[in-house]
Amino acid sequence: MIFSDKDIAQFAQLETPFYYYDLNLLQQTLDACAKYANLYNFHVHYAMKANFNPKVVGRVKAMGFGADAVSGGEVRQAIDLGFPAGQIVFAGVGKSDKEINYALDQDIFCFNVESIQELEVINDLAAKKGKVAKVAIRINPNVDAHTHQNITTGLDENKFGINSWDLPDCATVLKQSENLQFIGIHFHIGSQITNLDVYKNLCVRVNEFAAWFTERGFAVKVLNVGGGLGIDYHSPDQQIPDFENYFKIFNEFLNVGHGQEVHFELGRALVGQSASVISQVLYVKNGKKKNFIVLDVGMTELMRPALYQAYHKIQNISKSATAGDAAGAVEGFTKYDVVGPICESTDCFGKEVELPETFRGDYIAIRSTGAYGEVMASNYNLREDVRVAFIE
Ligand SMILES: *Cc1c(COP(=O)(O)O)cnc(C)c1O
Repeated sequence: MIFSDKDIAQFAQLETPFYYYDLNLLQQTLDACAKYANLYNFHVHYAMKANFNPKVVGRVKAMGFGADAVSGGEVRQAIDLGFPAGQIVFAGVGKSDKEINYALDQDIFCFNVESIQELEVINDLAAKKGKVAKVAIRINPNVDAHTHQNITTGLDENKFGINSWDLPDCATVLKQSENLQFIGIHFHIGSQITNLDVYKNLCVRVNEFAAWFTERGFAVKVLNVGGGLGIDYHSPDQQIPDFENYFKIFNEFLNVGHGQEVHFELGRALVGQSASVISQVLYVKNGKKKNFIVLDVGMTELMRPALYQAYHKIQNISKSATAGDAAGAVEGFTKYDVVGPICESTDCFGKEVELPETFRGDYIAIRSTGAYGEVMASNYNLREDVRVAFIE
């Protein structure tokens, strides 16, 4: 998504701020993912929580990918948008009875179960309906994802999954539960993983756990390795993640037996680069210590920077200059703190960002906002509902 004069002329017809989705780029990304996953017959589920905008999800669904839901609402959204129930997986550390019952009624492909107690609850609820629920055990493999601490999920201290020392009890419960059908094992160790070696470590653990279950008489049909593949937030124009090497690692390092399937749950990598937030400058405040750019977009529309200090590239697209906070000062550029209008000091998109001299009314693009952007919007401060526009 590189902004042409035509784009910018079009912005004048729209009310800022808004999410600007490039559906052509989304399509290229999905095509690349499918191409490399298909080399090895890998199954891809799309992690709905990254972006559940119907237009975006529609493109994903058309690829034949399955859906990965983390709430009853996401299971419902996946079904409403046309995903076959038999391709929906449902994870989450706190599934309520209502959510479990709903998913049982829909006959989803699989529950990714995160505690022994949850196994017992699903068994009871399935029994009441005279059904057999398919389950995969989400194991916490204690693999360091080398990502931001707030988005790492596969370490002993994280709340997700069943820890290895609880697996013997887990196996006992599985064997006793007549309304559960064990289909495999599941992992998801974190998000925005950019070091692919992390996945080699994961594969080693997956092989060990699969062997553990097999030795105890379980048929491990599904190896679900989750998602987490990162995108390059610093180079938003380098847009398609390295699906080729990502899938290659799993092909090389996973022991996949006869009849076993490998499943993935990708979110960010599929949708992250396909949107920017387009905003306008409300005010420029030049202080003694700091210069501030006050935007009309806030943490209410894009929460990632406030929530986990996430970096997004910020560009003044009203200026022809190659904008951005490149390393080192650029001549004629000024350092600004780029902030939103919300009454919170964390409502800041970037500190000391190098930008060309900026004025009220300039258009500012906040890049790489297709994942965990629109979905986290809120009406805090009684802000208006988030707006969207599409390049189709
Ligand atoms: C969030 C999530 C994903 C997707 O993570 P990404 O980093 O967006 O790829 C996959 N699986 C589960 C269980 C998740 O919670």
